[in-house]
Amino acid sequence: MNVEFLKDVLSIPSISGNESMLRDYIVEFAIENEIDYVLDKKGNVYLTKGKDKVTLGEYYPCVVSHIDTVHRSHIDLINDKRRLDIVENVKGDLIAYNPLTNEQTGIGGDDKCGVFVCLSLFLHMDILKGAFFVEEEIGMLGSREACGEFFKNVGYAIQFDAPSANWITEVCSGVKIFDDEFKDNVKTVLSEGGYTKFSNDPFTDVNQLAQKFNFNCLNLGCGYYDQHRDTEYVVIDEVKKALHMGINLLHHLGINDYERKDIPKEDYNFGDDYGYDWKESDFDIDFLSNGNPYDQEKSSKIVDAVIEMYNDGYDKDDIKLFITEFLSLEDDE
Ligand SMILES: [Zn+2]
Repeated sequence: MNVEFLKDVLSIPSISGNESMLRDYIVEFAIENEIDYVLDKKGNVYLTKGKDKVTLGEYYPCVVSHIDTVHRSHIDLINDKRRLDIVENVKGDLIAYNPLTNEQTGIGGDDKCGVFVCLSLFLHMDILKGAFFVEEEIGMLGSREACGEFFKNVGYAIQFDAPSANWITEVCSGVKIFDDEFKDNVKTVLSEGGYTKFSNDPFTDVNQLAQKFNFNCLNLGCGYYDQHRDTEYVVIDEVKKALHMGINLLHHLGINDYERKDIPKEDYNFGDDYGYDWKESDFDIDFLSNGNPYDQEKSSKIVDAVIEMYNDGYDKDDIKLFITEFLSLEDDE
């Protein structure tokens, strides 16, 4: 794995709504490596490699990451077109300093580690699509507008957006992102690479993809820790594990279609182990783990409302109360 390339990607500041530096970097990468790229009007970037090798009726694998981070203080760097200083701490992990303040700041491994893994996979594979979404952190606003045309010949999607190198999202905001057959298919490959922990998480972009499209999705850990905090750090070896996992999965699954067969009736059961904390507050979504019957419409209503309340400045307790009342009202119907 090219560690200098990893540091290069991590050094680019990018925050929700101000992703231009990282978007430009991905476009330049595509041009340099002769990979087709398109941007949509939302600012998402889509890469396609191997058009000449794929014929009508065949399917691409697609790798996914988001290009925004929560670290709002990086806006001054973006305005000055400056990079973060990436350094190794005493343990050999990567952390970031803001060169304008000389203080440690969030490195944005969430999800620039994912961006690095996805770009690296383009260097390893002959046939691949990649989607790089904006504004994931403020409610998956980029992937909500994911381009249907781009995904119509995608056979499965693998996102890299979770901490550590042993993390597999199974249910995302109440949406099951792969079926049992797919799970059986990938379980051995995953565990051979050290991925054994299936988890129940709040958002990431494959939540949107799984609701819009009918292919199986995965979301895997890619080596970041303490996400959303100034102390955020990246474990190089674990990014490497994520990259190897990606290579192994793409070889194992190939260029086939994996349609999801058990599109769901799930229970609300958000895990709290993700530690998703909406910036500095300790907001997490474990309060939904009360076994209420799942339906997709209810799930997206709640997600929308929570995002709106969060953006309007409501605190955790208000939001919790709202959801409790919302669920009990719906259950009375
Ligand atoms: Zn993320």
